[in-house]
Formats: sequence, C-alpha cells, structure tokens
Amino acid sequence: MGKQSEILQNLIDSFAKLPGIGKKSARRISYYLINSEMKVSEKLADAVIEAKKKLGLCMECHNLTEHKICDICGDDKRDGSSILVVENFSDLYMFEKLNIHKGLYHVIGGLISPLDGIVPSSLNLASLFLRVREKKVRELIIGLNHSVEGDTTALYISEKLKDSGINITRLATGIPIGGEIEFTDEVTLKQAFMERRIF
Ligand SMILES: [Zn+2]
Repeated sequence: MGKQSEILQNLIDSFAKLPGIGKKSARRISYYLINSEMKVSEKLADAVIEAKKKLGLCMECHNLTEHKICDICGDDKRDGSSILVVENFSDLYMFEKLNIHKGLYHVIGGLISPLDGIVPSSLNLASLFLRVREKKVRELIIGLNHSVEGDTTALYISEKLKDSGINITRLATGIPIGGEIEFTDEVTLKQAFMERRIF
C-alpha cells in the first residue's frame, strides 16, 4: 500500500482512539464521511461540539445533564430516600431502561483500584456520604460490578456508612462474577436488582 494522505490518517487515528472502534471501523467511518455530503460531517461535528459545550454533571448525583440538576434528581415523583450507586452513566442508563428503580442515583465515576491509581478520593464518594447524611436516605443500593474492584468499592462504602443507620443492599450475584453490568442482559439484571441483599 502506498503512502496515504496525512489528513486521512489523522481522521482514521482520531476515530480509532474512541472506545469500541478498531482500526478497521475507523477506516470505514472515515471513508463513509469523505464519500458522503458535507452536511453529514457538519452535523456530526456540531453534535460533538454541542454536547461538549452544553453537557455537564448534575450537582447532586453526577449524572450527565444540561442543567445544574439532572431530570432524575429534579423529578419530585422519585423516591429520594433510596439511592442506587452506579459506576458510570452507561450503568445508570441500563437501570433506567429497566424501569425498576424509583429512587435516585449516585454516579461515582469509577471503581477503587489502587494499582491503577484510583483511590477513594478519585471518585465521587465524599459527595455520596454527605448526601446520605443530609438527605434522609434510608436505603443505599450498591449497583456495582461483582469484580475485585467492585467488591473493594462496595466494602469501602459500607464501612464508611456503618454507623449511619441506613440499609445498605447489594445486587444479587445473578450478574456473572467479574461480569459487567453494562453487558448483562435485562432479565438477569432485573432479577439481581429484585433479589438484592443486605450488604
Ligand atoms: Zn442528578
């Protein structure tokens, strides 16, 4: 293969850096954009820029929002006494799609993993503990993966809140050990939620 345009290579490399997109897909997307009308690329670029400019994190739960408080936290029909702790937005989205949790969420933004430099202070945990103390929370549901990091984080949270008097539950282990919530099918996840246990 001959030397290809640096501009094209740059475009392919940019896509290849995104999660879940390999070199091959990056190349296909790049060719697609180059071959389609200008407005297709403009729409894509505008959508990325707009999302980056306007989306921020909810002050309460760290969910994505274009306001100070997200739609879930701002919905007074939801039960503020129950908080489901999740790792990231995609896990929150999974639970929302199942429509089984009527309470609020707290997105902690990762899992404790000292080897990767992720310590409790790297995560949104201080705000969680503050929320639990100030907002009359009765149940904290730990919706974290059943992995070493998920277990460590769950344990850390329950230790920190052991004198708070709230119920701490964790999803049942219907989720395969080491399995990711994001890739668990809906039936299994729903069951794990319904059968959550005191942690
Ligand atoms: Zn929120």
